[in-house]
Amino acid sequence: MKIDLEQNYEELRARVREITSKYPDEYWRQLDADRTYPSEFVDEFSRSGLLSVLIPEEYGGEGRSLSEAVAIMEEIQANGCNGGTCHAQMYTMGTLLRHGNEDQKQRYLTKVATGELRLQVFGVTEEHTGTDTTKLRTFAEKVPGGYKINGHKFYIGRGMYSDLMLLLARTTPLDQVKKKTEGLSIFIVEMKEAKENGQLDIRPIRTTMNHSLTEIFINDLFVPDENLVGELGKGFRYILDSMNAERLLIAGECIGDARFFIERATDWANTRELFDRPIGMNQGIQFPIARAYASMKAAEMVVKKGCAMFESGKKVGEEANMALLLASEASWEAGNVAVQTFGGRGFDANYDIERKFRETRLYQVAPISKNMILAFLAEHVLGLPRSY
Ligand SMILES: Cc1cc2nc3c(=O)[nH]c(=O)nc-3n(C[C@H](O)[C@H](O)[C@H](O)COP(=O)(O)OP(=O)(O)OC[C@H]3O[C@@H](n4cnc5c(N)ncnc54)[C@H](O)[C@@H]3O)c2cc1C
Repeated sequence: MKIDLEQNYEELRARVREITSKYPDEYWRQLDADRTYPSEFVDEFSRSGLLSVLIPEEYGGEGRSLSEAVAIMEEIQANGCNGGTCHAQMYTMGTLLRHGNEDQKQRYLTKVATGELRLQVFGVTEEHTGTDTTKLRTFAEKVPGGYKINGHKFYIGRGMYSDLMLLLARTTPLDQVKKKTEGLSIFIVEMKEAKENGQLDIRPIRTTMNHSLTEIFINDLFVPDENLVGELGKGFRYILDSMNAERLLIAGECIGDARFFIERATDWANTRELFDRPIGMNQGIQFPIARAYASMKAAEMVVKKGCAMFESGKKVGEEANMALLLASEASWEAGNVAVQTFGGRGFDANYDIERKFRETRLYQVAPISKNMILAFLAEHVLGLPRSY
């Protein structure tokens, strides 16, 4: 395994910037105020192929590596945009590519690759069971030709703006399995028709930042046999395959956020003059920015290592979890420093720091809360007793 520190994927980053330059701060500010979804931005990114770089060429994608996908997400964030509006299309690949069958890949991946279909929903979390995923209550009952699913998914991103959902449901009751991680299955759900006939009732939830969050009521939803992903009852294992990729992709987004904050804070510290000199001449202003930069660079190294391990097929749980932990803390630190550097303007929507500050806070809670990362490291890396 080799980590190439020279490789920055500049050609890909330039492609990202070509699009992000058309979606400036004012665009995101307005969406944030209206709490609306950036359909044009997501569609343009999808059509450009940048959102399907992880899809192999035989299905119409670019067949690129996770490191390249991470560079794309980082660049989106660093340019003031919000990759949280479209990142699911990348991380669901861990499940669909590895465990979907040829028919499913032909039917769906080819259309996701061209931007014809959006695959933006990963339905795992539930209201009552939250982090305790294996106790989820959504149940898929076997019926002739498929499954009848009932349940309720909660805090699901982009629910109203996707054509497809990867849904995790129980197919064997919890009290009938040997291990609680067994008896969960993944289904591909075509959302449009199910919404129209009331099998999916999707309602928005307003959040601190513009995230198009929803809850999804599932009422006698019929999913045909051919949309079961992989083997019945093995779904929990399959989502873990998406989750390490997801952690690294979102860690990349955090690095992008940190870059955004550090670049903006540095510019402001160099331009804002008080007491007849730039505020950046004060150590009280420049040291926190320098410290945030060091934290970002350290986190970036762990992200790079995690990606290199993922690509060489090594177990990556430790690095993927640490990457997200450190990168989400680094972006939050950088955001906090940017607010301080901008003074009152740090809270002024017209300067975009406060918007990004709200957006980046999420990544210490979702997709996985910081505590669960620490619990993983304590138990599985350090050998401490399981704490829950
Ligand atoms: C904006 C947003 C987007 C989201 N998008 C999606 C999505 O697309 N798909 C999806 O499936 N989910 C999504 N989620 C859900 C997200 O993954 C969960 O909110 C998150 O995993 C935490 O679950 P919870 O909110 O139920 O908190 P809870 O499970 O109720 O936990 C509350 C707190 O207690 C802590 N805690 C719980 N148990 C322990 C323990 N044993 N040890 C230490 N601390 C513990 C948690 O870490 C957390 O800090 C999203 C959430 C948000 C806010």
